[in-house]
Amino acid sequence: MTSSGAPDEIHVAGRWRAGRGRPLDCVDPASGEVIAKLTAASPADVDEAAGAGAAAAADPGWRDLLPHQRARYLTRIGELIEARAEELAHLQTRNTGKALTETRALVASAAATFRFYAAALETTETPLTPARGPYLTMGVAEPIGVVGAITPWNSPIASDAQKIAPALAAGNAVLLKPAEATPLVSLALARLVVEAGVPPALLSVLPGKGSVVGDAIVRHPLVGKVSFTGGTDTGRAIGRLAADKFMPLTSELGGKSPTIVLPDADAEQAVAGILYGIFSSSGQSCIAGSRIFVPESRYEEFVDRLVAGARRLRVGPGTDPGTQVGPLVTFEHRDRVAAMVDRARAEGATVLCGGDVPDDPALACGAYYSPTLLGGLGNDSRTCQEEIFGPVGVVLSYRDEEDLVAQANDTIFGLACGIWTRDYRQAWRLARRIDAGTVWINTYKQFSISTPFSGMKASGVGTDKGREAILRYTRQKSIYWGLDEDPLPWAR
Ligand code: NAD
Repeated sequence: MTSSGAPDEIHVAGRWRAGRGRPLDCVDPASGEVIAKLTAASPADVDEAAGAGAAAAADPGWRDLLPHQRARYLTRIGELIEARAEELAHLQTRNTGKALTETRALVASAAATFRFYAAALETTETPLTPARGPYLTMGVAEPIGVVGAITPWNSPIASDAQKIAPALAAGNAVLLKPAEATPLVSLALARLVVEAGVPPALLSVLPGKGSVVGDAIVRHPLVGKVSFTGGTDTGRAIGRLAADKFMPLTSELGGKSPTIVLPDADAEQAVAGILYGIFSSSGQSCIAGSRIFVPESRYEEFVDRLVAGARRLRVGPGTDPGTQVGPLVTFEHRDRVAAMVDRARAEGATVLCGGDVPDDPALACGAYYSPTLLGGLGNDSRTCQEEIFGPVGVVLSYRDEEDLVAQANDTIFGLACGIWTRDYRQAWRLARRIDAGTVWINTYKQFSISTPFSGMKASGVGTDKGREAILRYTRQKSIYWGLDEDPLPWAR
């Protein structure tokens, strides 16, 4: 471990050691300070991890555990995460810049995820299906063997847990590839998984570049499924490789989610929810409500309220308990967001607030960007069609419900949607008409692990979360048990 408590080795095939890839510096985006120096994994490490993972998953000592016995390990992991919650939250805040309030919630969610899948595993039933002859018919779910879990940088421990917990529950080994910039909390999680008594080769954590380490995982012949969360272009590239291998792929991808104010909405509630939806996590959230639709009749009122609210947000380091908007994950990403706002200006956007790097000297060393609202753009602008993944929202107006639905659905994405109204009939109608895997009505960005999560259109294929997620890490097999004493009639 480094003096800051950050892990400095990676976990390959059951051993802690340096990777065989390139040097990898982990940086605190609030200060620019290097907080850990690792050596990334290499394709050779992926190969070793896959071989050892396959052997560990096939070992009768693990393979033949009964569900309630395997569940105990998951419960223990959840307990260990809870016991180290503060340490994990601080580590994630230092590596990602996210506010401590958010990283604490992510750590709690990771612990709850392991407990949930322990309970789900113990209570998953093997279906006896209705037979159409003198036999018993049943379906059994078998482990795939080795699965790849590839995660982004915005919520590492929670997204890692959502893949590792059901995959281990199903009896698999996992090769986890955290995002290049933010591997530290995933490595810390691996220490807890090992401490819980899980055979160490069942979880390898392989940091490094996606195009090298992630690609090696996707292509590896022993990897029988990949669960990917990340950008749409990356998901598309992985999908092509998965198709070549006939390998199942779950992909949770990008979004450009509409958050909709209906004419009767309670302005105070809607504004608080919209600000949270776009500016929490500094907008680095797949489900960020980045297109804000307001009725023409209330456009000025909402622009004024949203701008006043955005200007009040406290921007600062994630470690400051008062911070609402932390730095972006890296300086490169901050510059990318700034360039997209410049492009929006060139497209004719009016900057309603923000649109710059904060001038507070105390923030000069960090990768900060001011909460930004834009107006004056049509939904067909590039700014409204492409994910920015930063604290940038566009306020748009609509005439009536038909116009609203047409604009809201005019996007390649279909991840989430928020609706603010007191009119439950219209809320229901819209919730069914908008292309989105998740719709929030009079709330936003609320989650429960028992509720499935998925995207429509270019926001992804397949589903995470929910008790059925365990089955998504299995191969289905049907078994027919003949009950007749007599030989089959055909050959007689
Ligand atoms: P990204 O696609 O660049 O990277 C995601 C992960 O994939 C990283 O671990 C990366 O190293 C790896 N990767 C990159 N290229 C790869 C390749 N060729 N083969 C295999 N792996 C590869 O995404 P990001 O910038 O880390 O994260 C932001 C994106 O993630 C946004 O688009 C966001 O919307 C999306 N996201 C989606 C969800 C969801 O549940 N739908 C949740 C969080 C983030």
